Amino acid sequence: MPKFLDAIKGFGVTFGTMFKRPITEEYPEKPGPVAPRYHGRHQLNRYPDGLEKCIGCELCAWACPADAIYVEGADNTEEQRFSPGERYGRVYQINYLRCIGCGLCIEACPTRALTMTNVYEMADDNRSDLIYDKDKLLAPLQPGMEAPPHAMAPGTTDDDYYLGHVTPKGVAR
Ligand code: SF4
Ligand code: SF4
Repeated sequence: MPKFLDAIKGFGVTFGTMFKRPITEEYPEKPGPVAPRYHGRHQLNRYPDGLEKCIGCELCAWACPADAIYVEGADNTEEQRFSPGERYGRVYQINYLRCIGCGLCIEACPTRALTMTNVYEMADDNRSDLIYDKDKLLAPLQPGMEAPPHAMAPGTTDDDYYLGHVTPKGVAR
């Protein structure tokens, strides 16, 4: 094929594209939707009365292939109770410089304390702000919840919490 035809072919692509509808991502003004099960920022969940689900067991940290999670558990007392049962997560950190979003940590969690949200806007301009603490990871308090520390619902055990018997209005067995 003569060389000059290459140039005409090239212009053909240009003209063809000029009349196509542009596909423009209007981010960040209009963040795009993600799949419902997208692995975004983690969340530490609460029971319906506000107590924390995390028991500080560190299974999530052991399951993490990127060594992105750091947990320090501590004992609850009757005066300072953060979760039902014996232990709670006193320190909980996820390092988003390391996290690869694999979700193995949420599979390992025995109380469904740890889940992942659809939030993906986590860029920052320094390393330390990408290590998220409990204050960033804990689920917000919903109506009817009380911020820990506080006592368990009267007459309940940690099993009642785990089995979903405790509701914001009391115990439903
Ligand atoms: S999603 Fe994967 S890499 Fe990220 S903290 Fe969980 S286990 Fe670690
Ligand atoms: S998030 Fe789950 S697996 Fe991780 S320390 Fe808390 S209870 Fe254990």
